[in-house]
Amino acid sequence: MLRVGAHTSIAGGAYNAVDEQVDYGGNCGQIFSHSPQVWQDPDIEDEEAQQFRDRSAEHGVGPWVIHSSYLVNLCTPKDDLREQSIDAMQKEVDAAAKLDIEYVNVHLGAHTGAGVDGGLDNAASALSELDVPDGVTVLVESDAGSGTKLGGEFEHLATVRERTDLDIEFCLDTAHAFAAGYDLSTPEGVDETLAEFDEVVGLADLACVHLNDSKHECGTNKDEHAHIGEGEIGEDGMTAFVNHDAVRDLPLVLETPSEDGKSFAWNIERVRELRD
Ligand SMILES: [Zn+2]
Repeated sequence: MLRVGAHTSIAGGAYNAVDEQVDYGGNCGQIFSHSPQVWQDPDIEDEEAQQFRDRSAEHGVGPWVIHSSYLVNLCTPKDDLREQSIDAMQKEVDAAAKLDIEYVNVHLGAHTGAGVDGGLDNAASALSELDVPDGVTVLVESDAGSGTKLGGEFEHLATVRERTDLDIEFCLDTAHAFAAGYDLSTPEGVDETLAEFDEVVGLADLACVHLNDSKHECGTNKDEHAHIGEGEIGEDGMTAFVNHDAVRDLPLVLETPSEDGKSFAWNIERVRELRD
């Protein structure tokens, strides 16, 4: 069955994210546990968590992903930022357990001068410090690779897994991978990219897809999402991707733009149309 959903808001109560998801026509999804632009602890009441779990079960919505704060930087060489990042991640995995959410998604962050190897080391050891509750898995997301951000190359993901004690899995963001230089705009490109992911990382550890089109061309390292089929990946690439055997059973979570008229509902419907 096609699992497709959007990033929805917990404003007014975590369970509202479920109602919003159902309104959009989604059957899986992603949330922030708090505002992602600031350091803030998730503050989810027991009753609210219960309602989130009940409504998700009632409407058959899942899996869910918590996307960690944008401030988290696992690669950082700065001690205080590293401690804050580990602390924030610990609270995210605990919030996930409370909500019965399977995945916590995180970007590796930027090495800001530590170098690629040093940054990957920092991320791996930071992840090793987490005490992740049973039933929760940390997903490291592929990145667009701007500046000193790591995770643009699939090799980075494999290296972190090799170096960390934590059992991690991965989230592939189509807009990020495309911006990082993996061409997903043609059926051949999709085939090659997923074969490369399989060879370098292994599809067995790919748990989730962030399905976004890209406003910028392949290899530009620019991370700006576009509506499904309307960006540089385009309809051919998206059609090939959502029907590819390697990913067709994975949850497809949309982070498409919401400020320019086309809603998540429109994008979810679009994915259903492109799917055979
Ligand atoms: Zn993403």
